[in-house]
Amino acid sequence: MRLTERAHTELKKFLNPGDQVIDATTGNGYDTVFLARQVGANGKVFAFDLQAESIEESTRLIEAEKLVQRVTFFQSCHSKISEFLPVEIKGGIQVVTFNLGYLPGGDKQIITHPDTTLSALVQSYEYLSVNGIISLIAYRGHDGGNREYNQLIELIKKMKWSCQTYPGNESDHSPMLFIIRKFKTD
Ligand code: SAH
Repeated sequence: MRLTERAHTELKKFLNPGDQVIDATTGNGYDTVFLARQVGANGKVFAFDLQAESIEESTRLIEAEKLVQRVTFFQSCHSKISEFLPVEIKGGIQVVTFNLGYLPGGDKQIITHPDTTLSALVQSYEYLSVNGIISLIAYRGHDGGNREYNQLIELIKKMKWSCQTYPGNESDHSPMLFIIRKFKTD
């Protein structure tokens, strides 16, 4: 099973109609569509990406799937989550997804960076509801990816977050899926 599918399988266990969720790296919009379907007509997806190309492509996809009402896009760095999302929904976000690295088929120079990734992850945890889940796929095969991966491991340890990891294959540089679960408010 691909790691993206594995992430969806895990997330489905925790998603319900009416949920509010965040896609922190919209990319080609596949996670956005998945989330929009799961949260139903009364749910909401807040979707972030730096690149206009990603937002345009994903908007087309969301329109084709007739899910426009359920999605709000922000062409912005995901480290600005707390600037865009109202403070009232802090503690009310059920799921956050991250798929790091570069946009497949896009500009490989535009990649996620440890400082903003870590900042976005800490903010995501603050917005998460109790029993909420963050899924994050990190890629170690590209320049900087391994450094980002190591910093993520350090942060998760430091914060004492409950986390399970799933490698995509048996290589030392396999992509890694992190599933972080918030058990209580802290
Ligand atoms: N590598 C994955 C796809 C990752 S897409 C795969 O193969 O499936 C990653 C997306 O994150 C890209 O669209 C990129 O534009 C976006 N991105 C990079 N840095 C970002 C940031 N700081 N804030 C929000 N989005 C960012």
